[in-house]
Amino acid sequence: MIWSEVINQSRAKEVLNRGISQDRVAHAYLFYGPDGVGKRAVALAFAQSLQCLNEETRPCNECNACRKVSRMLHPDVHLLFPYPNDADPADIGMRIKRLGENPYVPVDYVRRPSLTDSTKVSNKQAIYTVARINEDLRRAMSFKPVEGRYKITILTDVEAMRQEAANAFLKLLEEPGPATLFVLITSRPDKVLPTITSRCQQLRFDPLSNQDIEEALVQRMGLEANKASTLSRMANGSYTRALDLADNEELLESRQLILEYLRFSYTQNTDKLSDVIEQLNALGRERLKGVLLLMISWIRDLMLFRTVGDDTLMINLDQKESIERFCNNVPDANIEAMVHMVEESIELVGRNVQVYLVLVTLANKLYFAMKGYPEDRLYIPLHEVTVPV
Ligand SMILES: [Zn+2]
Repeated sequence: MIWSEVINQSRAKEVLNRGISQDRVAHAYLFYGPDGVGKRAVALAFAQSLQCLNEETRPCNECNACRKVSRMLHPDVHLLFPYPNDADPADIGMRIKRLGENPYVPVDYVRRPSLTDSTKVSNKQAIYTVARINEDLRRAMSFKPVEGRYKITILTDVEAMRQEAANAFLKLLEEPGPATLFVLITSRPDKVLPTITSRCQQLRFDPLSNQDIEEALVQRMGLEANKASTLSRMANGSYTRALDLADNEELLESRQLILEYLRFSYTQNTDKLSDVIEQLNALGRERLKGVLLLMISWIRDLMLFRTVGDDTLMINLDQKESIERFCNNVPDANIEAMVHMVEESIELVGRNVQVYLVLVTLANKLYFAMKGYPEDRLYIPLHEVTVPV
């Protein structure tokens, strides 16, 4: 992983490189910002620069240290991520190897419970246990570097540290060993103990532009330009999400399910709607959230098409026809209200509310919104719910 392989994030690169050249490297960093924008990639490029043996051009990508870091085999560079209690060590090793090959690929246990089956869903929790912090991490960090200049640990998804583990980690941060360096990575800095974040130099990461993502998909993954354009618009600034979508035809196909969900909600075809809800329900919470995000992008396209009148800004370019048809058939739809409703449903799904109930309620609310009811009149008394709960 060299700096040129990091997509954009020029500000973070600049800050870190300045630190290296002025020999002012902090002992702990917090990289925060949305998922999939390159925090891991920057952390690995930074680690490689710090360990590189070639003082002239760090990282040279050729010396022994550089090669070891890029293959995730350097004894003084560790990458940790939360995993479920019963995770298989071989599987964990595979994930780390994959990250070495491409730090943008989705390998976390929440999004990808199975590396081999991208459609697999799991509700298992992936966390950092206090034992792991105290035994593995403390021991690893208490020794001097084996062969590198620093002892570096990169911890991704640090918000997955519960109180006890976070307190144990805080002790490590408070009394850093010589030449130790932590890089903490999170998309939820609000969920990390302030006593931890305040001890880190903080670096914010912004979403990538559609153009950045599109170029990377074409140049690195060899995707065809049209598909890259569609995926980049659907990815919300996250290259990892774009890769996930590219890898997962099923998720793209679920847009068909979205269309049917909207159509049967509108026509109040309760039998068919129940079928669709069953299928959505079977996706599991994480995947369903992804599908609901796609629903929002789809509804936004309706709005764009209606206001702009063409497809210039459309995300789901390949679904242009059905969007056009929908606009013509449902001219009064309160699209803004529809977006709010789906957003609210995503939050409910994330909060462990029963998924089936969320989908039934959403279908009913969408019906009224599509009929053009103003948002403040969209409270629906339960006795008016038309789908059997
Ligand atoms: Zn090197």
